[in-house]
Amino acid sequence: MGGLVDSRIFWFPSRMKHLIAALITITLAGPAATACGPDSLGTSRILTVAPKAGAHFGTKSYGGTLPLQPREVVLTFDDGPLPGPTDRVLEALAKECVKATFFLIGRNAAANPAHVKRIAREGHTLANHSMTHPWTMRTISHDAAWKNILEGESAITTAAGSAIAPFFRFPGFADTPALLDALDRRGIATFGTDLWASDWNVMSPETQLKLVMDRLRKANGGIVLFHDTKTQTATMLPAFLAGLKREGFRVVHLRAP
Ligand SMILES: [Zn+2]
Repeated sequence: MGGLVDSRIFWFPSRMKHLIAALITITLAGPAATACGPDSLGTSRILTVAPKAGAHFGTKSYGGTLPLQPREVVLTFDDGPLPGPTDRVLEALAKECVKATFFLIGRNAAANPAHVKRIAREGHTLANHSMTHPWTMRTISHDAAWKNILEGESAITTAAGSAIAPFFRFPGFADTPALLDALDRRGIATFGTDLWASDWNVMSPETQLKLVMDRLRKANGGIVLFHDTKTQTATMLPAFLAGLKREGFRVVHLRAP
């Protein structure tokens, strides 16, 4: 009897060690790592964005944008997560070892916490895009809009199980001076964008690819806005990433300090 107990005592730790080693191996060589070949696009550098007063980025809405070099691109995805399209977007990014920033809607995050955790686990940046995506925050009271922003931040943080980046993007870019001021005071950087794929319009993935590549060539880089909730975007993303590589664009990953 004593021998059996002893063997159990020794068997379990040894077995556990193997299990732990296997788990560590899986973690280190997860899908994002193993799928990346030497020819993958990759992320060229990390840009740390310190939220401070006046940290409003994106030429479509604000006077300035991120300090990017020519042909540097920041990939951003709004409105998710949505099971299906979001998964396909993550797979395309992982295959090319590319990191992006996801501006999530709080109620979508609360409904799909596993997707929020997956986005974070795969090394992307989580950011806030409001709780319910009011259309627009200019047409509701300041207090209601601010509450919606804070609820979004809280829901995404809860779903992630860890802190998210202090980055916010207004639904439809519909900011107000008072809300911008409140975000500044809370230490949150506000993001517009430099260009977009117009993927809120229904079009074929091929048309969307041509449109966004043409805009990117013209702008010579910048923040690009997509929606990971759109099937047409998920479908064109592998070709878009291949296009970036072919034309010498480099992907920059945003992180909080
Ligand atoms: Zn949106």
